[in-house]
Amino acid sequence: MTGNLAKAAKVVHCSARRSRVFFIKCVWQYCVNGKECAEKMELALNRFSMPAIRAIFAPMQILDGTAVAAHIKAQIKEEAAAMKASGGKTPHLAAVLVGNDPASEAYVGSKVRTCEELGFGSTLIRLEASITEGELLEVVKKLNADPEVNGILVQLPLPKHISDDIIINNIDPKKDVDGFHPISQGKMLLGQPGFLPATPYGILLMLEHYNIDTTGKHCVVIGRSNIVGTPMTVLMSRNSNPGNATVTICHSKTTNLKEMVLSADIIIAAIGRPRFVTADMVKEGAIVIDVGINRIDDPTRKSGSRLVGDVDFDNVAPKCSYITPVPKGVGPMTICGLMKNTLLAAKQA
Ligand code: NAD
Repeated sequence: MTGNLAKAAKVVHCSARRSRVFFIKCVWQYCVNGKECAEKMELALNRFSMPAIRAIFAPMQILDGTAVAAHIKAQIKEEAAAMKASGGKTPHLAAVLVGNDPASEAYVGSKVRTCEELGFGSTLIRLEASITEGELLEVVKKLNADPEVNGILVQLPLPKHISDDIIINNIDPKKDVDGFHPISQGKMLLGQPGFLPATPYGILLMLEHYNIDTTGKHCVVIGRSNIVGTPMTVLMSRNSNPGNATVTICHSKTTNLKEMVLSADIIIAAIGRPRFVTADMVKEGAIVIDVGINRIDDPTRKSGSRLVGDVDFDNVAPKCSYITPVPKGVGPMTICGLMKNTLLAAKQA
């Protein structure tokens, strides 16, 4: 503890007067109340953006997507039940799965199970991979016209002969609970209320839950897809909480990627490459959000494989203030984003 205090005092010496006064208060509280005040102090340290001191008193924290999702799902379930009790609609999600890609099967399965858990209605439409674009469009049009269906989700990726854009553009924007329709994306860009893309929305809910203040921080998003990277940059740079950061977007053609990522207070990796972000790319105290889901061989597992993220978790985690694991990090939060959108769609129907 004495060594830690000396180290902290050195950091504080360079800080603003306000921070010094605050630090002395924190140390006093810590000495008097010990661990009881640790949580309060952690919130305060976040607010004052003092990562160096934070690292001494509050070690790395896992952002537990499963636990946060359970909390949010309980709220959604309660709201949906109250809506039904007062004569309103039961939210209903229709999921369309084309082909039988195992990962897509798993994602859709867990979305349908979550609907059941929350008391939502759900319909799963399974279609052959050989279906034509025109036939799929007919399915979407029927769902658009069905008054029982509030939300439509077409699981991506679609087979190569079908255009994602054409299918998404034909979903009724009032039922676009994945938030991929140009109208949803346009509203998001303009800061108007609407459906936010489910994964970035889930990440915002996670940051909000942990009271992570992003104001003025440098956020580096790696990846520029329409469903994760690009909307994430928009949401992280809006003049609102939790997204109020200075944002840099990096992608496959970025030449100084390591330098960029090293300068980040917040790293959001959405690349689709196993353990791409290594410890030498991450500064001490950074907040790391790992969106990637990659299956790699693992002969020690019965299945012969396991899931890893885009971040080299084992080596990066010790340097972070916060980090999401894979699995059980962003994945469950994506489903929360989708369910919140479906509830909103039912309210507005
Ligand atoms: P994508 O393939 O559409 O986009 C990947 C992006 O990474 C591209 O914009 C590309 O420019 C960038 N990229 C590729 N190689 C790069 C490199 N060497 N350096 C820098 N940038 C590079 O993928 P996506 O749909 O955005 O998904 C990304 C990852 O997130 C995937 O692993 C996907 O499975 C996962 N994902 C997870 C969730 C979730 O809920 N956890 C949701 C959606 C996607």
